[in-house]
Amino acid sequence: MLDSILISVTEPIGSVTLGSAFTLAAGETFMLVSWWKAILLLLPFLGWAWMISTVLDKHAKRFFLGQEKWNAIHMIFAFAALAFVIVLPIDGIAGLAAGFFGLVAIFGIDIGIFIAIANKDERIPEHAKLRLDFSESAKKRSDKKEAKKLGNSELVIIGANKMKIVPPDKEATAYAVRVAAEEVVINGHNAHASQIDIIPANESTYAASMLVDGVRQAGEPLAKADAIQIIDFWKKAAGLSVEDRRRKLSGYITISSEKISNMSLKMVASGSKNGMVLSIVFNPREAVRRAPKDLGLLDKQLAELKSWAETTEGMVLLGAPSDNGRTTTLYSLLQLHDAYTSNIQTIEYDFEDEVEGIKQILFDATSEGPDFATLVRSTLRRDPDVVGICDLPDASTGKNLAIADLDRSRVYLSLKADSAIAAIQLYVRAVGDAKLAAKGLKGVVGEKLIRMLCGNCKVAYQPTPEMLKKLGLPADKVKQLHKKGGQVLIRNKPEVCPVCNGVGYIGQTGCFGVFPIEDDERKMIAAENWNGLRTAMRKRSLPTVQQTALRKAVEGMTSIEEVSRITAPPKKKSSKTSSSKSPKPAQA
Ligand SMILES: [Zn+2]
Repeated sequence: MLDSILISVTEPIGSVTLGSAFTLAAGETFMLVSWWKAILLLLPFLGWAWMISTVLDKHAKRFFLGQEKWNAIHMIFAFAALAFVIVLPIDGIAGLAAGFFGLVAIFGIDIGIFIAIANKDERIPEHAKLRLDFSESAKKRSDKKEAKKLGNSELVIIGANKMKIVPPDKEATAYAVRVAAEEVVINGHNAHASQIDIIPANESTYAASMLVDGVRQAGEPLAKADAIQIIDFWKKAAGLSVEDRRRKLSGYITISSEKISNMSLKMVASGSKNGMVLSIVFNPREAVRRAPKDLGLLDKQLAELKSWAETTEGMVLLGAPSDNGRTTTLYSLLQLHDAYTSNIQTIEYDFEDEVEGIKQILFDATSEGPDFATLVRSTLRRDPDVVGICDLPDASTGKNLAIADLDRSRVYLSLKADSAIAAIQLYVRAVGDAKLAAKGLKGVVGEKLIRMLCGNCKVAYQPTPEMLKKLGLPADKVKQLHKKGGQVLIRNKPEVCPVCNGVGYIGQTGCFGVFPIEDDERKMIAAENWNGLRTAMRKRSLPTVQQTALRKAVEGMTSIEEVSRITAPPKKKSSKTSSSKSPKPAQA
């Protein structure tokens, strides 16, 4: 009894069930009809009914094809189908198959007639003609998929005014802009980027490139119109004037999501001949906040810097290329001095962080105030104990520094330079008087950031004796080195390392060279004898940036490839990139 139902045909018509409709006239006696046979014969009917209600009826209504007339025609076919089933003996497989295909044919003719007649109607535009390949529903499905791919707003954004920026209505075009703007930031966060720069690439496209552990990664191209909308969205969120497309403006917002807990973002917008530029800096304050012991200095180097901080006289140069932690190190060097007993000041383009106990002076190039050199001179005239200066923008700043009373103030001067010697040369050139420049120099620090190998996927290997010899490493002491992996075995299958996203590196540390300037060195600088200076510095056998980097490679912290990358001579600006013309992203 499980697979069949007993239907009594002698019962009154009123109690007719679905299954019995097809067997009503089959005889005056009891008969057994498998319920699955009834369902099989119901299928063509259901398909037809679905087609009528979701497509044909709507089509008839939409294009005024005579909805009632067509409904009547459909009913006639329905009765014809019913009559067909009643007449047909459906016991046996052959009968059942005939019943099934018969029904399919009857309903198919109905639908076919409708389509044929409707498609001939001149009132129906070509694109709305009915096609049996269901291309329309396929398109609808792909549209839905597209909308799903576009994604939803995931970030909670707290704007400059501390108010939550509520996502617009999903139907609004502004919603798509919001999702696209969020996507840029989410992608950057997922890639462990410290900064994203949305920069015009050419006439019609922008690119959102990322800075991941100091290495620039090309981003997806963005259509110019989209990029501008994204830039305007973030500018508005950070409380910056959307109309002002020329001046450099900066502001802060906070974002959070399921995966991100209250992260601060700094938006730096500026304009150039080629268009607008937006730099998004992740966690700007935390990024430059590091205790001296966490900078990556060797113990000996840290001890040397601490000994320098026991006095408050003389000039210390800090040289590093862009994006190599100069700001962080400058703040950190100031921390070596006691902020409660010394008067410590900074002169900065932009407050990267608020440092406790330190008077930070902002230089605003756009304001009417004094120029950088004048600001430096007036600050030093008041004899502060320690001054950190973020840059050496021109010769007059160099001159004002060299003539200041460096017996009464310690100056840490941060310079964009590729090495410690290059920093000295730059300073001497700015001062314009090598003897005067050499007089006040106390020491020089060179720095480069190196990427650290991902501990989850780094690969150990045995270096060849030739390789060690080339690197100047002792073969008897260095038994293994490490290189980047990027993949890990998960259930014996190589998969992209989830910790570093397959990059092989995660995080950076500083590699330093810390050199005191004593009489020997001072003499060479005064004579601008750079080879002599190199020799004098080498005599002290203090580790250089490269040697510090190699030591970190031997310790397994980084790879030889990274050491080569950061110690390679700086690339000459090629005409292809025309960096003088192209807009520059904000620099940390
Ligand atoms: Zn990894």
